[in-house]
Amino acid sequence: MSSAEYLPKSWEPEFDASSATQADLAVKFCEEIAGKKGQNSSPPDPVRLLEMAQELYCAERKDNSEPMRYCNKCHSDRTTLQCKKCGKETFIPDARWSPSKLPSIDKIRELAREVGYAIGVHGSLERDLDLIAAPWTESAVGNAELINHIAKGMNARVIDLGRKPLGRYAASIQLDGWFKLIDLSVCPQLPIE
Ligand SMILES: [Zn+2]
Repeated sequence: MSSAEYLPKSWEPEFDASSATQADLAVKFCEEIAGKKGQNSSPPDPVRLLEMAQELYCAERKDNSEPMRYCNKCHSDRTTLQCKKCGKETFIPDARWSPSKLPSIDKIRELAREVGYAIGVHGSLERDLDLIAAPWTESAVGNAELINHIAKGMNARVIDLGRKPLGRYAASIQLDGWFKLIDLSVCPQLPIE
């Protein structure tokens, strides 16, 4: 078995005018060769013919290249028709639409530090930004004040709040604009024994 058999099948032009741009080019080149109404025809020289061929296959490759797909449930880019993680059908986003960005972790760390907290990142960062805030200094403020401080500093809204096991307090914070959700879990301040 030759090593070439292991190579992935690369794109090959079909020249069947299947793409819209290719069809337009074909009409344009025909006009160029035959000449417009009332004008003389002008057969292409070899260089021009090769240029035409190149334009045609470039157009086909461009029109047929696989667009990026997206999973609405995982909020992640996907290359497959079905999401490999959750199984949901993916879709091709509008060209003007761009996937949600990750909020600046550095900025959140800075804000947390200002009020006595350290921030740890956990989770895959794919769906949302999962953060753990731990009280770090003697001057650490209360959990509600920390959450408000971060939300205000990030130009964001607190959209969900709730108690979690072992005294943790969790907040979902949404930035203004197309950003991933911040899922902030705040550890409690325990009395020193
Ligand atoms: Zn998914």
